[in-house]
Amino acid sequence: MASCIKCRSYTKYHNGMCFSCYNKNNSKKGKVYFGETTRNDGTKKIYTGQTRRSVFERVSEHLKAVKSPNSKTYTGRGTKFKLLGSIFSTNRFKAEKTIKKMSSQKKKSLAVIGAINYKKKR
Ligand SMILES: [Zn+2]
Repeated sequence: MASCIKCRSYTKYHNGMCFSCYNKNNSKKGKVYFGETTRNDGTKKIYTGQTRRSVFERVSEHLKAVKSPNSKTYTGRGTKFKLLGSIFSTNRFKAEKTIKKMSSQKKKSLAVIGAINYKKKR
């Protein structure tokens, strides 16, 4: 009898994961992106976010929030938002956490790598 490599429950997929584990594992995959947010006092900060959807879709939401006068989100309270780059991750939550602890200089260099990856794909 084949069992799931994660939860050990029965699965018809030999040497694989059951449906629920596969879905859980897959939902972690996504992109971590870097944006530059301009605050009300004119200072610029690096914003790190993650998404399972397209980065551009997510960025357009940030831009919408910036335009909205009563947005309560961090980026929405700023005056500008600019995408710097994004990287693919198999665990976007963990990657986001790790990156958020980094210095803004390190974040910027990661964003540059992400921006290069974008250009390569085009
Ligand atoms: Zn399983």
